[in-house]
Amino acid sequence: MRIVFHERYLQEYASDPAARRGRIDRAVEELRPRYDFLEPNMAEEEDILLVHEEHHLRMIAESPQLHSMALLAAGGAIEASELAMQGEPTFALIRPPGHHASPGDCWGFCWYNNVAVAVERLRQAGRIRNAFILDFDLHFGDGTNNFFQNIPHVTYYHSGSLQEIATVLKGIEECDLVGVSAGFDRHVEDWGGTLTTENYRSIGGMVRSMTQRLCPGRVFAVLEGGYNERVLGDNILAFLQGLEGEGIDTGET
Ligand SMILES: [Zn+2]
Repeated sequence: MRIVFHERYLQEYASDPAARRGRIDRAVEELRPRYDFLEPNMAEEEDILLVHEEHHLRMIAESPQLHSMALLAAGGAIEASELAMQGEPTFALIRPPGHHASPGDCWGFCWYNNVAVAVERLRQAGRIRNAFILDFDLHFGDGTNNFFQNIPHVTYYHSGSLQEIATVLKGIEECDLVGVSAGFDRHVEDWGGTLTTENYRSIGGMVRSMTQRLCPGRVFAVLEGGYNERVLGDNILAFLQGLEGEGIDTGET
C-alpha cells in the first residue's frame, strides 16, 4: 500500500471547506510514518477531456491556480489507478475532491472528477472492461453517476450503510478494477454523524474481500469529503488497514 500525495495539496486553493488551510495536514502527519508516499504529476488536459466537456475545462482554466490544483488532484487519482492496475492497492490523499463534477458543470467543492477521469482513461485504452466505483461519502456523487450512467460495464454505487455495501459487493460477479470515492464526512464527529472510525475499517475489509475474489490488489481509493481534521487521519488509516486486512473480521477471510 502506497499513498499518492503532493505537498501542493496542503495549499489553500479556494474559499470552500474542502480547500481550507489545515484540512489534511494532520492526516498527512499520521500517514507519512506508516506508508511510502509517491508524488504524482498533473493530469494532461486530454485526460480531463475524456470525461469533461471542453467548455468546462476552459472555464476552470481561467483560474490558473485552481486549474493546476485540480489537474494535480486528477493526476493523483490517475497515479493511484496505475498502481492498482499493477495489483497494488493505493490511496490518493488529494484535493480538491471530484465526485460532484459532471461532464459540463460542477459544484460541491469539486472541479474535475478525479475517479471518473482515472477509470475512463483505463477503460478507453482497453485496459479494463468491468469497473466498480464505491462511494461512501456522505453525499451522492452526482458527477460520477452522470458520467457513467450510460457507459456499459462501469457501475457507480453510493451508500453509507455497511449492510447494504456488504450485500452489493458480495453480489458482484465480474470486476477488473475497483475505484473508491472515499469521503469521510459521515463520521460521528463530522457532518453526517453516523459512521465510527471502526466502521471505515469494516468497509475497507469488505472491499478487500471483494477484490481478492475478483481482481486481487486492483483497488484505488481517492479522498472526497471529510471536514474534521482531528479525526480525518484516523478514519483514513482505519479504512486503509481494513483494505490491508488488518484487524478486520468479515467472517470470510
Ligand atoms: Zn461529502
